[in-house]
Amino acid sequence: MTTTHILGFPRVGDKRQLKFALEKYWRGEITQDALKDEGSTIRAINWKTQADAELTYVTSGDFAWYDHVLGTSLLLGNVPKRHQQDRITLDTLFRVGRGQSQNDCGCGQAASDMTKWFNTNYHYLVPEFNADTQFSVQWTQLFEETKQALDAGHNVKPVLLGPLSYLYLGKEVEEGFERISLLPRLITAYQQIITKLEALGVEWVQVDEPILALELDNAWSGAFKLAYQMLRSKTKVLLTTYFDSVNHHLDQIVELDVDGLHIDVTHKPESLSEVVNKLPAHWVLSVGAVNGRNVWRADLAHWLETLQPLKNQLGKRLWVASSCSLLHSPVDLELETELSVETKSWFAFAKQKVNEVSLLGRALSGDEKAIAECQAYSEPLKQRALSQVIHKSHIQKQVQSLVAGSSDRSLPFTERIAAQATHLQLPKLPTTTIGSFPQTTDIRLQRSAYRQGKLNESDYTQALKGHIEDAVRRQEALDLDVLVHGEAERNDMVEYFAELLSGFQTTQFGWVQSYGSRCVKPAIVVADIEREQPMTVEWTQFAQSLTSKQMKGMLTGPVTILCWTFPREDISRQEIAQQLSLALRDEVSDLQQAGINIIQIDEPAIREGLPLKKSEQQQYLDWAVNAFKLSASSALPQTQIHTHMCYSEFNEIIDSVAALDADVITIETSRSNMELLKAFEEFEYPNEIGPGVYDIHSPNVPTKDWIKNLIQTAAEKVPIERLWVNPDCGLKTRGWDETEKSLANMVAAAKELRKEYEGI
Ligand code: GLN
Ligand code: ZN
Repeated sequence: MTTTHILGFPRVGDKRQLKFALEKYWRGEITQDALKDEGSTIRAINWKTQADAELTYVTSGDFAWYDHVLGTSLLLGNVPKRHQQDRITLDTLFRVGRGQSQNDCGCGQAASDMTKWFNTNYHYLVPEFNADTQFSVQWTQLFEETKQALDAGHNVKPVLLGPLSYLYLGKEVEEGFERISLLPRLITAYQQIITKLEALGVEWVQVDEPILALELDNAWSGAFKLAYQMLRSKTKVLLTTYFDSVNHHLDQIVELDVDGLHIDVTHKPESLSEVVNKLPAHWVLSVGAVNGRNVWRADLAHWLETLQPLKNQLGKRLWVASSCSLLHSPVDLELETELSVETKSWFAFAKQKVNEVSLLGRALSGDEKAIAECQAYSEPLKQRALSQVIHKSHIQKQVQSLVAGSSDRSLPFTERIAAQATHLQLPKLPTTTIGSFPQTTDIRLQRSAYRQGKLNESDYTQALKGHIEDAVRRQEALDLDVLVHGEAERNDMVEYFAELLSGFQTTQFGWVQSYGSRCVKPAIVVADIEREQPMTVEWTQFAQSLTSKQMKGMLTGPVTILCWTFPREDISRQEIAQQLSLALRDEVSDLQQAGINIIQIDEPAIREGLPLKKSEQQQYLDWAVNAFKLSASSALPQTQIHTHMCYSEFNEIIDSVAALDADVITIETSRSNMELLKAFEEFEYPNEIGPGVYDIHSPNVPTKDWIKNLIQTAAEKVPIERLWVNPDCGLKTRGWDETEKSLANMVAAAKELRKEYEGI
């Protein structure tokens, strides 16, 4: 037999049951017991799925009420001081995660920071560390859930986030100490955890150390050795890594006192042979061949062929697994009723991936039927490789004919901006917004009625035009300089384009957890991408017809569309981005021809696409920048290209941001009091900038003086001639009342400053 397992299963439920239960609990509509029952049911179903597929182990410890890193903090008794009460409860967990819980007194303390889990779209709660942080094992969720799985008769392998990764992913909240100094204390707590698991009778524990895929400095990579020596017990440890190869740390890894290693071979399959060569003689090797973070069916025939010699060599020591936790996959492909049989045969969601792991394991053990099934399973992928519907030669030719200068605008920025000044006639410190206006209940109800066929197309279009007109009138009344149509027609800035472009497949239930109860439903790139008709021109042109002010067109950039969808795996990410750029370039042309003089191409996700290894980042940035530029390259010199990014860490990538060569960039700065403009100042960023002057994430209405102050701070760093005035992100989550009040103060602040700066 070949040992088979997965690294974790989605915890939201196939129809997002956990999301709905959590939100009901937070609103006070269900009791904590009812919430716990829902969690328990989901876990039982997940384990049964794994057991029915005959995986050797089912995984416990992968369930989280909000986030598994936060769960680890609670397990270790590491609760930020401001949230500590006499006892850790489920409400403590929600307070740390959300800043409040159902039974909150209203005296809300800030939630912990949230950040991206490596280069996925999942967000974790950042652990906080002080010099005097103590760890103690109090929160019993892991042990109770493991017991629940054992009681149900399963062969259970609990998973733990490893001590080094846990520390590394957190941050110091006090000056003058380094969190790695907490390691000895932390290891003591981990010892207690492992002892408790041992008492439950588990044989193997999966200890995740995903940071091994990063390029760690010696202080971190060198700390593993002693840490794992101290964790040695009767329970066997499978050291788990994923998202990228760990060969750069391999010499240190093989020295560790563990019983096996899991590697992700979906990313750089060539890394496998070196690992095999260096594998200690008594270790198991768990090969993650089923990609846990994409929706494509695994090529089992290929993996069977690749792994068979390894099976012959390692025998029982070869395990087969998912590459990473299936947390990043949608749950069940069988729920999709609108996919064609052919399309469906290309995909595997979490439930199907469990079956893939099992089937591959059986085939490797020599089960003839399983071997034949693996061959048949890969058949649709072979057919897909030849399909004319997917591979469009005219698109591929267009991509191939791109040359070095294809992405450049026809004139350099200094000449463009002069042409734009004449063409656009904007005042100093022009005011604008980032694109979306409040998505009111009306808008959402109309969209869902339309989608369900209860509202016909022409009535829906009429309703949307009404919302656009309303947004335009309000902006005129506010006297903003550059208006937007408000994005009422868009449910989501990526899905909207994915539905209009050919080459994408959307799903009904393909939800993946993003953070807490929030899930996203990424579209899937299935074929060469093509724009069959204009996507935004009609709405934008209609909006422009209502006003004599400049109407800014609004597109989502190629890199953001790529980062927020499931990509194809048969062509490179760069090539997908280029195809998207070509489609967007045509949209820019059409907008321009329709009389739109300013076009914003949003790229809030550029940073997220960065490879994990620093040494690979520049290459990515180069093609990402090129993709953005290509999409803007059809703009005439007098057409002004804007871009928008929501994050605030620009230091490392500022030269790539400058290389985008957007005429205007709007960014998030208000929360850091313009701190991040430093990067732009030091770099002497040449183009125009709109540093966000108020935080749209908060319902507070900023005063005119507060905004003025921020603009003045910005003007110390960036010459006023190059400054724009705008909020720091889109306003779709806000209400109209606060939005109008805030924007009125913003416009008033800009007007006063214009007067004050006149003649200077
Ligand atoms: N134009 C988009 C909006 O306003 C930008 C959103 C984003 O930055 N994520 O909503
Ligand atoms: Zn934003």
